[in-house]
Amino acid sequence: MSTIDDHPLAPLMPYRSSTCIGISVPRGWEKLVLDLHEKLIAVDPKLVYHQVKEKYGEVRVYISSTVPETRDLIREAELKSRRTCESCGDAGMMHQSNRGWYRTLCPLCANEYQQGYTPVPTKGE
Ligand SMILES: [Zn+2]
Repeated sequence: MSTIDDHPLAPLMPYRSSTCIGISVPRGWEKLVLDLHEKLIAVDPKLVYHQVKEKYGEVRVYISSTVPETRDLIREAELKSRRTCESCGDAGMMHQSNRGWYRTLCPLCANEYQQGYTPVPTKGE
């Protein structure tokens, strides 16, 4: 059982809202989320996180903030996550497994999973 202190996203933890339902992303995106966190608290030190997670191969960050710039920063991180392997952090792209799961992976990691992950064209950015 790991504690909050050795959680890779520990810097975000003091900023959780009282109703936060979870802060968790795949290993390859931890740096991306930590970078985003630094930018976010620089523009709004009072922000609170409701949830940070992976959805359909993209990072999702839900916060409360009164500073409009935070929305742009989060959008930027979402777009970046679509090009970052969620497993190792290298350059990646959206893949779909033979069971229909979406993950953003590099070719090496896609192979390693051996679940038939194949690249899928991403929707317009
Ligand atoms: Zn990878």
